Amino acid sequence: MKREPGTYALVLQCAVYKTVQIGRWKALEIRPGYYIYVGSAFGPGGVLARVSRHARKNKSNHWHIDYLREFVCLTSVWYSHDPMRLEHEWAQTLANTPEYMPVSGFGSSDCRCEAHLFFLSNEPELVAFRRAVGSSKPLSIEDDQ
Ligand SMILES: [Zn+2]
Repeated sequence: MKREPGTYALVLQCAVYKTVQIGRWKALEIRPGYYIYVGSAFGPGGVLARVSRHARKNKSNHWHIDYLREFVCLTSVWYSHDPMRLEHEWAQTLANTPEYMPVSGFGSSDCRCEAHLFFLSNEPELVAFRRAVGSSKPLSIEDDQ
């Protein structure tokens, strides 16, 4: 992962049933399983800087994902340094994949996607995702574990 622009998907594992207040947006019920959050980083420091920020738990909460982050483990990150902003395309792809359940409105208040956060009960597979998004640049994975 480099300090270059790109698109990423955080693979988050959740072990608890909990109600999490997501800023002023809503109280969200989370449950054991996996959450995938799709975003992009086209500012200074690129994907590396943004993902490092997501990896930290102690920080001021700014995005919807920051509020959820405190209660889930970051297990891996899928990313691409494709110069095209692919986050909405990836979000659409996941929305069209049956095992991914969109958390309606999460992270998508500024776009037309149904959601930028998805829930699935089993660990998501990079291979299937890579095939679905058909990214022009290789899609890589960085594991925390
Ligand atoms: Zn979107």
